[in-house]
Amino acid sequence: MARILLLLAIGFVIYLVFRGFFRSQVGDAKPSEPKDVEDMVACSICGVNMPRSESKEEGGKVTCRDPSACRHAK
Ligand SMILES: [Zn+2]
Repeated sequence: MARILLLLAIGFVIYLVFRGFFRSQVGDAKPSEPKDVEDMVACSICGVNMPRSESKEEGGKVTCRDPSACRHAK
C-alpha cells in the first residue's frame, strides 16, 4: 500500500513538473517567435543560406554581411 502511495506521489510530482515546464515553454515561445519565423535568404554571390538579419542587401541583391566570409565560402 505504501508503494502505491509513493507511486502516486511520484506521478503527481512528475505531472507538476511537466505542467510547469509546459507553461514556461509557452511563456518563452511568444517573445522568441519572430526569430523562429525569420526569413531565410540566399547570398547572391556564394549561395549560402542565412537568416535575413545576418545578410546584407545592396541594390536589391542579398549578400553575406561579412564579405570575407562570403569569398571564403566560394
Ligand atoms: Zn556570400
